[in-house]
Amino acid sequence: MKKVEDYVRSIPDFPKEGIVFRDVTTVLQDPDGFQLAIDEIDNLLKDVDYDVVVGPESRGFIFGVPIAYKNHKGFVPARKKGKLPCETVSKEYALEYGTAVVELHKDSIKPGQKVVIVDDLIATGGTIEAIIKLIEELGGEVVKVVFLMELEGLKGRDKLKGYNVDAVIKYE
Ligand code: AMP
Repeated sequence: MKKVEDYVRSIPDFPKEGIVFRDVTTVLQDPDGFQLAIDEIDNLLKDVDYDVVVGPESRGFIFGVPIAYKNHKGFVPARKKGKLPCETVSKEYALEYGTAVVELHKDSIKPGQKVVIVDDLIATGGTIEAIIKLIEELGGEVVKVVFLMELEGLKGRDKLKGYNVDAVIKYE
């Protein structure tokens, strides 16, 4: 019986030297791999009471949408700067080189809503930290953050102290 990690393709030195890129296209293109990935993420949420799933662009859409659909929850995309057409809240965060901006529609999260964030992978945790701040700015409560993969060595969890964080696959 194959495990979900068996479907992940690891590519050394992509996009640059020293990075091992964890490629989920090989998970998604296989019906068993895809179903297993969604079921395992969903399993980490089975005891969680939530109203809405937030997924960061773009791989967070792929994993967040099926979770929201399966559980009859709403889905809210966290997008890169300039993509959302209505009023937004936005937050700048640090990348390895330079910065990026993430945005949510102002009316996407209602005060008091319980929010789960689903993404493909946590590396430094910078993206999710910024998204959590936006959700809280809108009055939402982040009840759990779930990743398909966690790169433990990069200590992204340290940025998310105090939050319930979980991952299906953990790489050292
Ligand atoms: P971070 O904000 O550093 O936690 O990383 C944000 C996003 O970068 C993740 O959600 C991934 O989509 C992508 N990413 C970072 N490192 C890797 C990696 N080694 N393999 C695949 N994707 C990565």
